[in-house]
Amino acid sequence: MSGLVGYIGRREAAEIMVDALKKLEYRGYDSAGVAVITGKDISCRKEIGIIRRLKDSLERNPITGTIGIGHTRWATHGKVSVENAHPQIAGNIAIVHNGIVDNYIELKEELLKEGVVFQSETDSEVIAHLINRELGNLEEAVAKALKKIQGVYALIVLSADDPEKLIAVAYGTRMVIGLGGGEYFVGSDTTAVAPYTKDVIFISDGERAVISREGVDIRNISGQRVTKKIERIGWNPVMMEKGGYRHYFIKEVCEQPRVIIDTLHNHIHGGEVDFAGLSLSDKDLAGITKIVLTGGGTSLNAAIVGKYLIEGIAGIPAEVESISELRFSPIKKLGGQLMVAISQSGETIDAVSCLRHGNAYGAKTIAITNTKYSTLEKEAGGNINISAGPEISVAPSKSFTGSIVSLYLLAIYLGIKRGTLSAEKSAEMIKNVAALPHKIEEAIDLEERMEQLSRIFYRNKGFLYIGRGINYPIALEGALKMKKLSYLYADGYIGGEIKHGPIALVDEDTPVVVLVPNDKYYRHTLADAEEIAARGGTVIAFATEGDTEIAKRFEHIIYLPQSDYYLNPILNSIPLQFLAYFVGLRRGCMVDLPRNLAKSVTVE
Ligand code: GLU
Repeated sequence: MSGLVGYIGRREAAEIMVDALKKLEYRGYDSAGVAVITGKDISCRKEIGIIRRLKDSLERNPITGTIGIGHTRWATHGKVSVENAHPQIAGNIAIVHNGIVDNYIELKEELLKEGVVFQSETDSEVIAHLINRELGNLEEAVAKALKKIQGVYALIVLSADDPEKLIAVAYGTRMVIGLGGGEYFVGSDTTAVAPYTKDVIFISDGERAVISREGVDIRNISGQRVTKKIERIGWNPVMMEKGGYRHYFIKEVCEQPRVIIDTLHNHIHGGEVDFAGLSLSDKDLAGITKIVLTGGGTSLNAAIVGKYLIEGIAGIPAEVESISELRFSPIKKLGGQLMVAISQSGETIDAVSCLRHGNAYGAKTIAITNTKYSTLEKEAGGNINISAGPEISVAPSKSFTGSIVSLYLLAIYLGIKRGTLSAEKSAEMIKNVAALPHKIEEAIDLEERMEQLSRIFYRNKGFLYIGRGINYPIALEGALKMKKLSYLYADGYIGGEIKHGPIALVDEDTPVVVLVPNDKYYRHTLADAEEIAARGGTVIAFATEGDTEIAKRFEHIIYLPQSDYYLNPILNSIPLQFLAYFVGLRRGCMVDLPRNLAKSVTVE
């Protein structure tokens, strides 16, 4: 899942690359490193931990040069150590690698027999040796080495023998090349190059780009030259700064009203949901017999919310499957099925595999992503862009609520197109969602209240979350957020399920967040909360403004604005995000970069 960068131009490569790596830190932060051409040599610097350490080291002792490659690692093979950090070097070759070399054991044995000495435990080092072994001509050596490598990967190669170029390769994932007029920026995604240029090209599918000061020459997997369209990216660098907030996470939580406004602006025209980008004909729409929603982590929780929305609003049977399971599904006849794959980055490899599975076996496919031109977006039959803007914090917030709004609109669209939702009902629902940004602002006002609660509970051993109906996946998401940001044990359950087991976990040291809005489940969820309190558990109830009954029963009550059943999950998400953030902060956790994680999971 590592992040890769490269630079060739007139400026100091190390300085540019460290700043670009900072933008990719969400992809991994086990270690970071750069390699720069310095005269006839390659100079390399690697540090364990976050990019800041590499930056400090380079400030103390700079490496000067105008061509280089850089890496921030999420280790898959080999422990976190300086030796295993990238760039990996063999002779005069340096490489940075994202992915896994599936056949590295065979390749390593072959190289060991030839007398190659390995310096690291990584799978990546074999790539550097394979290229080094084939030198002479650098391009040919890279092409020959690639033929031997199995797996999904991205790669940038630098050679001291051929120092005026970089070679970037993307196979099964993609890379972006920023065109800056005499200088070129390579990155694992657009956030890395956006501060420097808006004009980019993407490489994928085994394409390799030879990048020199004169230009970019791209070949496909069989070595034929390809011409690429220059795309213009929309995010501006200011959107990627913290803007006075202490952490990206909290900044992104507070951006949620804006995200919803942008999503509505993009998809509601003339009072109706407009999803022209879905490329579904009336016949396709009428032929849908089942909708399968898929995602991983927070996107999986959004997918579960989506199931409630689609079944409830459009009346179409819906199923949810994790991306890591669905991609191995034995079901190969998918005609009549609409697959909706959700991934913030659009690069999560399991999501891409699911989509390919859907495309191959006759499903219609839709990608819901936050990243224009991503692999998922490119390969899907149709697209919904979340319009959340760059999300830098590893733990998602605005892309989660943004994807729920997109699913809400999708459900309305499907309902109208298939005649299961009346025009009046649709108009009412659109009115409700238009009022949502203002209500989210009210929920954001709960920040201080959640901070106070965090003081009471941050020393506890864990948290439980319960909800019913459409708030069940919000209980899951609340727990996932708490795990990620505070490293505390946390789990989410259907309210009705707790008496079948989880209630045994209730004690005075494990507060239970109960999502109890005034919906059709109210009486039942209230009873769940009472059962918890009766067993000595502490209830933190998320209720609806004006609920006087609940005030008599529990000490800790968070009131959220009155809202439609289908939109209430979004409002509940906001204080859950604050709670996880403040508990994590009090526990001294790296809230923007939780340990062991990465945002975009580009390894299988
Ligand atoms: N397999 C490489 C390593 O462990 C790269 C990992 C990745 O892409 O995250 O160093």
